[in-house]
Amino acid sequence: MLELANVSHVYPNGTRALDGVSLSIPRGMYGLLGPNGAGKSTLMRTVATLQTPSEGDIRFGDIDVIREPERLRRTLGYLPQDFGVYPRVSAQDMLSHMAVLKGIASAGERKATVESLLQQVNLWNVRKKALAGFSGGMRQRFGIAQALIGNPDLIIVDEPTAGLDPEERNRFLNLLAEIGENVVVILSTHIVEDVSDLCPRMAVLADGRIQLEGAPLELIAATRGRIWMKAIARAEIEDHRARYDIISTRLFAGRTIIHVLADSDPGDGFAPVEGGLEDVYFSTLAGLRRAA
Ligand code: ADP
Repeated sequence: MLELANVSHVYPNGTRALDGVSLSIPRGMYGLLGPNGAGKSTLMRTVATLQTPSEGDIRFGDIDVIREPERLRRTLGYLPQDFGVYPRVSAQDMLSHMAVLKGIASAGERKATVESLLQQVNLWNVRKKALAGFSGGMRQRFGIAQALIGNPDLIIVDEPTAGLDPEERNRFLNLLAEIGENVVVILSTHIVEDVSDLCPRMAVLADGRIQLEGAPLELIAATRGRIWMKAIARAEIEDHRARYDIISTRLFAGRTIIHVLADSDPGDGFAPVEGGLEDVYFSTLAGLRRAA
């Protein structure tokens, strides 16, 4: 269990990137969903002990993360957002080198670890290929392999699916799902489907604060009967925006589909629709924009 209590962070330029974040994160996949600038990377780097928060407490099991960062690092696997090491070195050699850095001193153990990780992330066939020539999806799978060295109990992946095509994204998410239920895996993302596909628990972070926390299915159930949809022409959007609480718009077959949040039937051609996690997420963000 990872416990954050009242974690705040103010950068030297005065930006309050985290504002009183408290979370209990159990074992399994946990989704941290938020728009760009929400504070996700700041939170991930803080938990990964790369920066110290201005305030607050973080505990992982019996580890006091802020006071004993080296203990946390021994059990941490981290795939940062800007994992940018793609030299002209083969995947196998690079992984072996990283295993040395992680303290796997025995050559035999290192070889076995590297081989099994390359198999697990499905890069065995390209193990001798230079990382510089890898596709985006292969790089991210390599990133997961390096994060898994040493069997970490806490795995942090920061915006891992950004820039992946749908097939690569699927493959990557399946791999994450396989990592297991016995470790804490935090997936930070701005993509709603990443969370809805994978995570039994989640939080929405925006403006440095936790806006919502829970099980996606329960959060969706809480919007039941309050989401309404209507297909309109593009030209009608502004008029509808003025009259309704629009939480999302998307194009479908040349029409614009709008979703609104309302406790009772707005009439005017709206039909009830079964909400999804997107509706939960966008109505949370829309609520914040209205309050601003
Ligand atoms: P996210 O990962 O959700 O996009 P970040 O944690 O990167 O969010 O950023 C949160 C806020 O903190 C943003 O307003 C960003 O501009 C600011 N920020 C991030 N890093 C720094 C930094 N090193 N110095 C000053 N401000 C920063």
